[in-house]
Amino acid sequence: MPDRMVKASALDLIKRGRQDYADVERFSADPKAFLAFLDTIGVERAGLINYVAPAIIGLTPEVNDWNAKYCSAAPDRLIAFGGVHPGSVPDPAMEVDRIAKLGIRAIKIHPSHQALSPNDYRHGNGSLAAIYERAQANAMPVMIHTGTSIFPGARNLHAQPMLCDDVSIDYPNLVVILAHGGRPLWMNEAFFLVRRHKNMYMDISGIPPHKLMEYFPRIEDIADKVLWGTDWPSPGVTEMKVNVEKFNALAIEPAAKRKILYDNAARLFPR
Ligand SMILES: [Zn+2]
Repeated sequence: MPDRMVKASALDLIKRGRQDYADVERFSADPKAFLAFLDTIGVERAGLINYVAPAIIGLTPEVNDWNAKYCSAAPDRLIAFGGVHPGSVPDPAMEVDRIAKLGIRAIKIHPSHQALSPNDYRHGNGSLAAIYERAQANAMPVMIHTGTSIFPGARNLHAQPMLCDDVSIDYPNLVVILAHGGRPLWMNEAFFLVRRHKNMYMDISGIPPHKLMEYFPRIEDIADKVLWGTDWPSPGVTEMKVNVEKFNALAIEPAAKRKILYDNAARLFPR
């Protein structure tokens, strides 16, 4: 993300204890440097998650233009996620269409940083309905943050996976990805929903690999619906490569591991 847009209180939390923040800044400034880094750790493609949350994090709709431009350096390897926040643009439906044309491949909704619930469209938020409707029409997956956030001002009431049940009922063709599988409080809700809804997935970013089997003992049952992710460089996530190594050491069938690390994302985001 462009850190000049991030509020000081949020940036402090991101930087706290990081040994590699100079690298993060270097990669942020130059996609070629980031691609070279991905080569050294054996990563073929990366999803770059950005979203709009002006009041709590500071990110404005400009992140969409920034991320689209960044990922255009290698669209076959860098998958741009963007955001549309009701209230930040005059016409959210037009904004979805605009960012789709820019090259944004998916939308991240961050309920606890945007201070809205995923199903607020059922309580009068027509802008949110328009975002889902246009995302569905543009075949853009919508990733919805689930699970706690410790960023200053985050409203965790909105972070329960169950609030996304309505979305998959009302937009059955929309691909919904529950980010972080509801960790560390609501994993059972995420597991239930991913099994229930044909077009609902989850990612396991932000989950320490040593906690994964404790959180999702039946992860193999949903291996077709789980996406790898690290959430790097967010607080507490130190090294992407180490996370992959720890995941690979878990007692999960090799075929399921391959789906999670590679096949599912490759299917959702064709080149
Ligand atoms: Zn998130």
